[in-house]
Amino acid sequence: MTEIVPPGHVLPVAIESPRHTGLGALDYLSEQPLAPGTLVLAPLGKREVPGLVWDGDPAAARTTVTLRPLSGVLTALPPLPADWRALIGFAAGYYQRGIGELALAVLPPELRKLDNTRLARRLAKLMKPGGVALAAQTHEAAAPDGVLSPRPTLSDEQRAALAALADPARTSRPVLLHGVTGSGKTEVYLHAAETALQAGRQALVLVPEINLTPQLEARFAARFPGRVLASLHSALTPAQRLRNWLLAHLGLADLVLGTRLAIFAPMPRLGLIVVDEEHDPSFKQQEGARYSARDLAVWRAHQLKIPVLLGSATPSLETWQRVQEGRYQRLPLALRIGGGAMPTVRMVDMGRAWQHASTQAEKDRVLAPVLLDAIGQRLQRGEQSLLLLNRRGYAPVLSCSACGWKSGCPHCSAWRVFHKSDRTLRCHHCGLSERVPRACPDCGNLDISPVGRGTEKLQEQLAALLPQARIGRIDADSTRGAGSLQQQLRAVHDGEVDVIVGTQMIAKGHDFRRVTLVAAVNPDTSLFSSDFRAPERLFALLMQAAGRAGRDAEVAARSEMWVQTSNAGHPLYAALVAHDYEAFARQQLAERRGAGLPPFAALALIRADARSAPVAQAFLQQARIAAQAFEGITVYPPVPPPVAKVADVERMQMLLECPSRTALQRMLAQWLPELDAMRGQHKGLLRWAVDVDPLAI
Ligand code: ADP
Ligand code: ZN
Ligand code: ZN
Repeated sequence: MTEIVPPGHVLPVAIESPRHTGLGALDYLSEQPLAPGTLVLAPLGKREVPGLVWDGDPAAARTTVTLRPLSGVLTALPPLPADWRALIGFAAGYYQRGIGELALAVLPPELRKLDNTRLARRLAKLMKPGGVALAAQTHEAAAPDGVLSPRPTLSDEQRAALAALADPARTSRPVLLHGVTGSGKTEVYLHAAETALQAGRQALVLVPEINLTPQLEARFAARFPGRVLASLHSALTPAQRLRNWLLAHLGLADLVLGTRLAIFAPMPRLGLIVVDEEHDPSFKQQEGARYSARDLAVWRAHQLKIPVLLGSATPSLETWQRVQEGRYQRLPLALRIGGGAMPTVRMVDMGRAWQHASTQAEKDRVLAPVLLDAIGQRLQRGEQSLLLLNRRGYAPVLSCSACGWKSGCPHCSAWRVFHKSDRTLRCHHCGLSERVPRACPDCGNLDISPVGRGTEKLQEQLAALLPQARIGRIDADSTRGAGSLQQQLRAVHDGEVDVIVGTQMIAKGHDFRRVTLVAAVNPDTSLFSSDFRAPERLFALLMQAAGRAGRDAEVAARSEMWVQTSNAGHPLYAALVAHDYEAFARQQLAERRGAGLPPFAALALIRADARSAPVAQAFLQQARIAAQAFEGITVYPPVPPPVAKVADVERMQMLLECPSRTALQRMLAQWLPELDAMRGQHKGLLRWAVDVDPLAI
């Protein structure tokens, strides 16, 4: 039989299709030779899908199949480079996604809308002299008075950290820059970036929160006038995102600052990666391809043989364990710049604090009398206080005193939260919002009342108890409008607010100079969570919140962090009082080792969504039986997550555990296709997904 070789070039193309379709790269015909990394349009069935010419040889056996020609080629875009394709290839394999699926998901969506002519026009605009605005011009915030901030003289610790970074023999290992808020980590990032830029390289800086990017951008822009700075995060308009991505890809941007998605920015001259607040859970993508930008940063840096700098006051226990094993290098910044001390931590025993309350109103108070006094003292001295309560709304639930009715959500296994400001009951899971009923829907009783406390209630109580105080509230409700968070933060900076009430939003990164008291109002709930990472998150949050107080050395001496608790003796709080991260990490790691949990084991979580719980359960059960063929993997029985039903969808999850990361990888690669095959047997199953290295369990 003579082989029919089709005319033209046969190319493997990674198309946009989920892993479970089994379509990795497909072969297509092209009239012209195309470099790997070229963006194309390919026919698939009756549709046309975007794809990327991929590496490797077309499968010879497939020449017997009639190949279809590509329907379009975006020649105007320079091909995505080899190191980018390697990153995508690794991430797709590790997180169990299709290559094309992941690759196309991380490209700017706007790219698909452009044809060659329009793209070429945009590129020409960027490339022409003066087409790219320089840092100092685009960021007026950088130099408010037109003067550049002077460079501080580095501290001994900062110098030592930079010397270690500059030593090529030592940078083969990832570096953990371990220092509390205000210890000068950002200054080290700036210097490390400068070294990279001077060597003609690009630097990539990842931060956990979009809200933190303007602040950081301003600092980098002020330090590097004349350099091109591009930010990448999900709050950009599609056009801005495309523009900044192109700046990175074309090598025009010297600095790229962004949230987790920026880890996939193609950067031809990349010479440094910084991950600030590396412990932050938001570096893990929670839907679609569930990747960890922090972990991919480490992989990418290793691949390129460039330094990667992970910064944190409370490193993730994964990172900390790698430091213990000598795989990462720890560079400490033990002292706060200017000699500011960490605040004194004071525990308020909730049991005792309310002992002398006689009236119901006193018993209902969210803050203990001693804490309220301490806030009053701040007020008199013109200092600010910051109160942290991780629950927005007025009260987490409304309840009927006669029949016990509670404000449940009809579509979710969750309570609807009472928002007093607009008198609504709102579900924070599905968004259902209704006016508060005038009487109990079950028995007609008029006496339905809020149970528990949220930020609105705390704000209301404070206003009554401290009538002379100006009280601000910062949470997802108060910051809904565009720019409203920045506006509220500015009010805090300008001293227009005495007491700030808020959710964990306010604990992160913001540099409040006049705060001398920080209080965690009700942190205990995280101590006994079913999620084994809850204590780690709580400790990081409290340390970070404590870091908000006393950033100025002159007020540091009288700065305090208050914790209201019923478990004052808990080891987590003992470590907090001593500002002893290492003690906390030691205790937690011992527990994790004993329980065979990360970082001593690798985990994967299978999630299944269905119209009814038994369907999701049956699917996972069948998957579990199939998993028994693999040795060395523990597969736990399917269980509902803490909030099982959301918007009428029932969810179930099943945990896999294995001492070896690679063994788990191999198992997943073989087992997951079986799940796809089973899928059709379970009517009512909406979707399933795998989460490798899940953060929330
Ligand atoms: P971190 O990132 O650890 O919170 P920063 O780098 O933001 O710390 O430093 C805290 C403050 O101290 C900033 O205002 C910064 O400009 C200043 N700073 C940093 N390093 C020095 C230094 N060596 N000398 C004087 N001020 C410094
Ligand atoms: Zn009732
Ligand atoms: Zn709901």
